[in-house]
Amino acid sequence: MSKNYGPEYVRAIAPYQAGKPISEVAREFGLEEAAIVKLASNENPFGMPASAQHALAAAVAELGRYPDANGFDLKGALSKRYDVPADWITLGNGSNDILEIAAHAFVERGQSIVYAQYSFAVYALATQGVGAQHIVVPAKARGHDLPAMLAAIRDDTRLVFIANPNNPTGTFIPAAEIEAFIAKVPAHVVVVLDEAYNEFLAAEHQFESAQWVKKYPNLLVSRTFSKAYGLAGLRVGFAIAQPALTDLMNRIRQPFNVNSLAQAAAIAALNDKAFLAQSAANNAAGYQQFVEAFEQLGLEYVPSFGNFVLVKVGEDAGAGARVNLSLLKQGVIVRPVGNYGLPEWLRISIGLPQENAVLIAALKKALAE
Ligand SMILES: *Cc1c(COP(=O)(O)O)cnc(C)c1O
Repeated sequence: MSKNYGPEYVRAIAPYQAGKPISEVAREFGLEEAAIVKLASNENPFGMPASAQHALAAAVAELGRYPDANGFDLKGALSKRYDVPADWITLGNGSNDILEIAAHAFVERGQSIVYAQYSFAVYALATQGVGAQHIVVPAKARGHDLPAMLAAIRDDTRLVFIANPNNPTGTFIPAAEIEAFIAKVPAHVVVVLDEAYNEFLAAEHQFESAQWVKKYPNLLVSRTFSKAYGLAGLRVGFAIAQPALTDLMNRIRQPFNVNSLAQAAAIAALNDKAFLAQSAANNAAGYQQFVEAFEQLGLEYVPSFGNFVLVKVGEDAGAGARVNLSLLKQGVIVRPVGNYGLPEWLRISIGLPQENAVLIAALKKALAE
């Protein structure tokens, strides 16, 4: 008889399903790696900025030493950028790390965490990982229903996760609505506002949630260098919150959770305003390219505020998997979202114009099969 190791709540975890790497698709389908287009993980199609590459190369010389455990230089740069004290900042091994640290720091086993249906898969994982109860609030128009989320908060709730813009649906909640929500959340509940796609927002939708942190002691804003800044492989994210929260985050995190190369590259990327502007402009143009194609093909899509679009590729529960397989055979990797309860849909990251064109042609072919 085999023994069950570990707690029941750990055994119940459904592991995160990442986008397929290019090398794996090349092996599986007998394709050339160079011919494969990957629009599956919301990565920056320009890759890592040259400024960050230079900083990283210079930092290689110091790799024999441990990283700066307090991330002095990177926190200093972030502190200046967001006008908050450096000791209000927690660095993470990607913002995924921030989300996990928050669950461990603020929630006890058996207490509850509130998040929305169709929101980022890591919220369920982080909740399950600490043995907390999931309160999953049904989505409204495939986005967050904030009044329902507020009503769902219980005495035993310690954390609320909100993704804005949301992944995988791309929906966006305007500043006034979010702030009104935060103001009403009971003081014993921490709100984690996950803004992984913030830098893609058009100017008229931008707002500085980092400033709200000064007003709301239970707010933690999470950001990442993985998306607009083009550093997904390096794993850097950060949180901004008042010291009462940051101090607990700091006790839970691994002392050296962000490596030296990542710290150096992140500082360079943060200061590379031209790269960020180029990324946002490419994203806006690529979104138009996708939207026009989807409309021409008569496909329903969810208007997106991120660097990806959720598109419905059929009416039956097999549609997403079927079209995904056809795209893979044609060398295009996108993200099926059946695990999110959206089996008729695919999430497609916005790439370079030529990559988008390859996807559109392959999608046409797949739908005609
Ligand atoms: C991509 C993503 C993240 C995390 O990305 P990291 O690479 O871990 O920083 C966090 N939240 C959302 C909503 C995301 O889509």
